[in-house]
Amino acid sequence: MPYQLQCDGCDLEREHADWADANEAASDHEAEYADHWVSIIELQEA
Ligand SMILES: [Zn+2]
Repeated sequence: MPYQLQCDGCDLEREHADWADANEAASDHEAEYADHWVSIIELQEA
């Protein structure tokens, strides 16, 4: 199941194949931009 990152502080939109990758990328982004909040959205396969 792919996961998409969505940031409320910029237009970051990135897909990751697994949750661990998505979570790590979200943490990295929030570490780099302390005032951004990244949501991890589970994409539903059609
Ligand atoms: Zn951001």
